Amino acid sequence: MSAKLISGTEIREEILEEITAEVAEIKEKHGKVPGLVTILVGASPASISYVTLKIKTAHRVGFHEIQDDQPEDISEADLLALIEKYNNDDSINGILVQLPLPKHIDDKKVLNAIDPDKDVDGFHPVNVGRLMIGGDEVKFPPCTPAGIQEMIVRAGVETKGAEVVVVGRSNIVGKPIANMMVQKGRGANATVTIVHTGTKDLAGHCKRADILIVAAGVPDLVKPEWIKKGACVIDVGVNRVGEKISEKTGKKIAILKGDVDFDAAKEVAGSITPVPGGVGPMTITMLMLNTLKSLKFKLGLM
Ligand code: NAP
Repeated sequence: MSAKLISGTEIREEILEEITAEVAEIKEKHGKVPGLVTILVGASPASISYVTLKIKTAHRVGFHEIQDDQPEDISEADLLALIEKYNNDDSINGILVQLPLPKHIDDKKVLNAIDPDKDVDGFHPVNVGRLMIGGDEVKFPPCTPAGIQEMIVRAGVETKGAEVVVVGRSNIVGKPIANMMVQKGRGANATVTIVHTGTKDLAGHCKRADILIVAAGVPDLVKPEWIKKGACVIDVGVNRVGEKISEKTGKKIAILKGDVDFDAAKEVAGSITPVPGGVGPMTITMLMLNTLKSLKFKLGLM
């Protein structure tokens, strides 16, 4: 393998240790710890496992954490009232509503009801606008794009003046990461192109990239011949392509594949993220960082 492996699992550990230390320091000096509430509606196994991991991580770094589970048939009005309760709760700095929500609830309405100053997922239109303005305006960058940028920085990849190509234009990954990489400042100042299904020469654009960020949701979409020699390749895709029995637990687990043909791409790229163990572990980590930031904003420490 010629490419350097950028391990999200290792970077996660570094950042969680930094957060834990900072939480302890703030607790000692100010008598406060960040508070995070996760609201789960219904009992989808995937959502339960995401929420459990978020709560476990919050606990690990020393946050005050609440898991507020609600029945599948909760009314939209009751869910909005619950959010309002946490908007007004001084011990809570971050409110997270686990998506997807049941069909009878308008998720846009629910996400927009969260106080933008507690919107640690960064999905509220106010925070999307702040991200677009950039600089000091940004409070809570959305977690997956923030994780991608942090990995690029910590891997020591130069972004200033770099050609960045982002495959995918979703509101949760493609558009925000493209917007972040184009701003002036740390881990950015790049020249950015977004490509999608309407793009004429996908391979040609990818081939120009010093940093190629792929968030399409198509297994093995990016071929090695689309990659510039020595480029940094960030594979955001998480695609379930089958099932296998876990050697550790003996239980059935999903076989995951990224959007990049990893085995071939690693022979061309300069650095690359694996799937699993790449971008995945960064998302919850950045959620913790945003929740800590929320308390710091409140205490006037940022
Ligand atoms: P999404 O909303 O489905 O958006 C996919 C984007 O990729 C769309 O803009 C689509 O273009 C583009 N695209 C799809 N196929 C393409 C093709 N053949 N050529 C060019 N562009 C193509 O997906 P998402 O929510 O951004 O997620 C993308 C992937 O990242 C998924 O595998 C998801 O599971 C993963 N993900 C991982 C994390 C994490 O690790 N923490 C977080 C979020 C997402 P159009 O707009 O033209 O349709």
